Amino acid sequence: MEEKAVYTFDDLKNWGEAAKGLNPPARLSVFGDPVAHSLSPQMHNPALTAAGIESQYVRLHIQPEELKDALRELPKQGFIGTNVTIPHKAAVAEAVDEVDDLAKKIGAVNTVLVEGERLIGFSSDGPGFQRAVREEFSVDLRDLRIMILGAGGGAGRAVAVQCAVEECERLVLVNRTAEKAQELADELSPYFSDERVSGPVDRLQAVPWDMAALEEQMDHIDLIVNGTSLGMKRSDPPLLPHRFFQPHHLIYDMVYSPPHTRLMSDAVSAGARAANGLSMLLHQGAISFEIWFNQDAPLAEMRRGLEEALQKKS
Ligand code: NAP
Repeated sequence: MEEKAVYTFDDLKNWGEAAKGLNPPARLSVFGDPVAHSLSPQMHNPALTAAGIESQYVRLHIQPEELKDALRELPKQGFIGTNVTIPHKAAVAEAVDEVDDLAKKIGAVNTVLVEGERLIGFSSDGPGFQRAVREEFSVDLRDLRIMILGAGGGAGRAVAVQCAVEECERLVLVNRTAEKAQELADELSPYFSDERVSGPVDRLQAVPWDMAALEEQMDHIDLIVNGTSLGMKRSDPPLLPHRFFQPHHLIYDMVYSPPHTRLMSDAVSAGARAANGLSMLLHQGAISFEIWFNQDAPLAEMRRGLEEALQKKS
């Protein structure tokens, strides 16, 4: 039987039949709606082969009303675990039997481990971001003054919680819907009770999506993170005016397609350093692998798989 690009909930319920011809058997997946665009199989399958694990990773198109039942099918159908993507990350945190501490703080799960009949939820987005920043800029979050654009979105929130848990030097939360950034700042305030930076700025701030307010922050920020959904299309407006960027800035754009976004090129032309979101995608995947198999992930194979998949896409 030929492998399908996307399986459905009906397939999952009849997995013995639907996945009969798959060799090695599919025992890992990503749930999403939509899910056809997910590059996770191209990243995880080379890793599974390299590690000699007799399983493969498939896409499952699961709609919100199917989610709870689909999760309960995993142990029945012999799955090791699954990733979950848009729009399920928050709902899965409510639906599994146990959620690890970090995922609880984030309020979202992107990795599920099956342990007997039980489902355990984790979030690898924040730790993946942390490793990505380390890889790209050779620096730890705790040593940085960080501004997150889109802090009220799912990915922005995961990254903000990670920065807080790591007790970064300074955290500035920015979101188009300002209340979400303010609520998150209130929630994260216990992590910033120590006075670590002296000067004219607060250690933790929610700043409105207002260019004058953002410009005032630029001297007091090292790392600017794009966690908004802007940057994927050529027609998207610039996130920040070119004049804001300074040579000491580091830019982490969570967008990875296209590989050079407008934000990145504007920053680089001002002498700053910039990286796209591929490394975060890679490292969050590697952390999922570590959760499922309790061993290091074959990072080079995963990276190669992702790069090839992106090249084919472009
Ligand atoms: P999400 O939950 O839908 O959040 C979207 C965020 O973008 C919100 O903060 C939203 O603000 C903001 N936004 C949307 N349109 C905007 C506009 N026109 N102007 C200003 N802000 C705007 O999405 P998500 O899952 O967090 O994903 C966000 C981005 O991160 C996507 O590009 C996604 O591909 C990327 N991502 C990358 C990785 C990786 O591994 N590299 C992982 C996860 C996500 P409001 O709250 O005001 O709506």
